[in-house]
Amino acid sequence: MDHDVIVVGGSYAGMAAALQLARARRRVLIIDGGERRNRAASHSHGFLSRDGDDPATIAMVARRQLQAYPTVSVITGNAVKASGERDRFVVECADGTHHPGRRVVLATGVRDHLPAIEGMAERWGRSIFHCPYCHGYELNQGRIGVIGSGAMSIHQAELLTEWGDVTFMPNGAPTLDPETRDRLHQRGIGIETADIVRIVGEAGVQLADGRALSFSGLFVAPRVEPSGSLSTTLGCALHDTPLGTQIETNAAKETSVPGVYACGDVAVVPHSVSLAVADGAMAGAQVHRSLVWPG
Ligand code: FAD
Ligand code: MG
Repeated sequence: MDHDVIVVGGSYAGMAAALQLARARRRVLIIDGGERRNRAASHSHGFLSRDGDDPATIAMVARRQLQAYPTVSVITGNAVKASGERDRFVVECADGTHHPGRRVVLATGVRDHLPAIEGMAERWGRSIFHCPYCHGYELNQGRIGVIGSGAMSIHQAELLTEWGDVTFMPNGAPTLDPETRDRLHQRGIGIETADIVRIVGEAGVQLADGRALSFSGLFVAPRVEPSGSLSTTLGCALHDTPLGTQIETNAAKETSVPGVYACGDVAVVPHSVSLAVADGAMAGAQVHRSLVWPG
């Protein structure tokens, strides 16, 4: 079956795009691997009317509402390849099936690269976070440890003083010059330069000099890149942001490849469910317009 639009990535951004298209009775195929970025977190904060809800429930309700539209179909699995041009794209899934479509929307989200510290990956989204607006409030102005991962970490440590008593542990990335040290001290931020050996307990840090520090929560700034390789195989231009790499889009959410659109974390900064939904809604409407007025 020939689809008007193939949406790769059926989480918040992709479903918001698909919803606009479904409501215009367009034939939309959503291909979704089911690996939402916030899958490790049990509560999502800051999305209007869903504050504190399970992020899986938010996605499930959206999926159920979308699937009630007769022109929407969903494939659970990963798209591994996309080729073609405007009006004649073909997206291939991992199971070998091929799906033709006139437009492609990349809503694949990003991959987080965390520093290689023992104990970090399993606490990600539970007691180690990156977004203060998402997870800062629940720390009740307690002790917050910020683990260095690059230049963004200084900004993160400064911002987090709004949410508690901050200790910055650069762990070698970045090295701190005297002016930066002064600036951090002026904000009341403690600095621990000993290397981190591993994360312990709920949110504790074992240092190389034998001390162990304990916190209400830990923060780290991951470097991000688009999930999967579709954007590069399609030839979409990418660009760097302070958070990592993202797909370049114009105001209509179209990438450098005509007929390929991108939305959500993979195409916008900063990152949140609210912004992904807004960006997806914009992409869906713009894709629809491109079908009405092909120009
Ligand atoms: P995602 O939600 O990441 O979804 C991308 C989807 O695309 C996934 O389902 C994936 O499987 C699919 N996909 C990728 N590649 C392919 C492919 N090739 N084929 C098929 N499918 C594919 N934001 C908040 O607003 N509040 C919070 O409390 C909050 N907490 C967070 C906690 C953590 C630990 C993290 C990491 C993030 C948190 N965020 C939070 C940010 C939020 O998760 C993202 O901003 C949001 O998920 C972005 O939505 P998206 O649709 O762009 O991408
Ligand atoms: Mg969350």
